[in-house]
Amino acid sequence: MPVSPPRAWVEINTLSLKHNLEFAREVSGCELMAVVKAGAYGHGLEAISRVLESCNVAFLGVANIGEARRIRNAGVQTPIYLLGATWEKEREEIVARDIVPCISTIVEAKSFHEIAKRLGVCLTVHLAVDTGMGRGGFLPDDLVEKLDELSKLDGLRIEGIASHLSSSDEDESFTLQQIANFDGTVKKLGGIDAFKWRHLSNSGGILGYENHCCNLARPGLMIYGVSPIPGFQEKLRTVMSLKSRVTLVRTVPAGHSISYGRTFVTTQPTRVATVGIGYGDGYPRHVSGKNAEVWIRGKRHPIIGRVTMDQIIIRLPDDSDIECGDEVELFGANISADEIAKLADTIVWELFTGITPRVERLYI
Ligand SMILES: *Cc1c(COP(=O)(O)O)cnc(C)c1O
Repeated sequence: MPVSPPRAWVEINTLSLKHNLEFAREVSGCELMAVVKAGAYGHGLEAISRVLESCNVAFLGVANIGEARRIRNAGVQTPIYLLGATWEKEREEIVARDIVPCISTIVEAKSFHEIAKRLGVCLTVHLAVDTGMGRGGFLPDDLVEKLDELSKLDGLRIEGIASHLSSSDEDESFTLQQIANFDGTVKKLGGIDAFKWRHLSNSGGILGYENHCCNLARPGLMIYGVSPIPGFQEKLRTVMSLKSRVTLVRTVPAGHSISYGRTFVTTQPTRVATVGIGYGDGYPRHVSGKNAEVWIRGKRHPIIGRVTMDQIIIRLPDDSDIECGDEVELFGANISADEIAKLADTIVWELFTGITPRVERLYI
């Protein structure tokens, strides 16, 4: 049976990913935990993890044990760190696979300790401190108080301490407060020598702030080519381009309505192209009516009418030479993902992770 090319696909440039990773290493002055949660932000968990392993990152950061399992099953050996709190039924596999969790409570610590003792192993863990994210971790004073008790759990090897910035791309004074709070907490717990790894910064923290107590940084978005704060975009290279093809080109008459709900009606005979991508691929329906543009044959062209599940309609100039089969860039090197995310009233993180499985991932 012949196999047709994909309708919609993303091209992922792994050289750009490597470039961005080295930039993160350089600006942070730290070793890296490359964050690959949510299928490496939609870029493909296994493929991206393999590339990052070849770049010698210290850790891969994941959201859950299912992602860790997939990375191990792909043959990747790099240490894996779990970025959030865990619940009971996840813990045995975490210990058995030697995944590094971050600990938020004494209950969690004791549970991991008991499983490790039962399996006859010692589990490496990091302690999480909540300096203002409010999602997990010990409150700073609590941790200082409980360190002795934690240190007695000999099924655990405490190798790191971590916190997370809530507003590194929005609120400088609060971010500085979080950094100072983390530094202070590390000091109270015995200083930098007490922990092999100290880490706090996401992409915004790496690009916008200095942090002398840390020796590990956790870049996510920036390695995928997008800066969450102004001034650094030109230092990063585009990794993901979302593409599709023109499937139909026609001229429709004046007074002709376009797409669901008839939000666009032509005022004159209009050349239109139909493109084979929609919200079923993760192209956001919320850009409907916002004059979002696509890139065809070296020029921008506007979407008219609503984004449908599998197709969108583009307005073309009357003399357009665009034809069926032409490649269309929805975002990438020419139309930034950030531009589309803003038109969709969302953030690039959501745009990337929303690209659905039917979109083929092609690695360059
Ligand atoms: C997602 C995440 C990161 C990466 O954040 P970016 O803003 O994408 O760089 C870092 N640390 C933690 C704890 C996270 O959950």
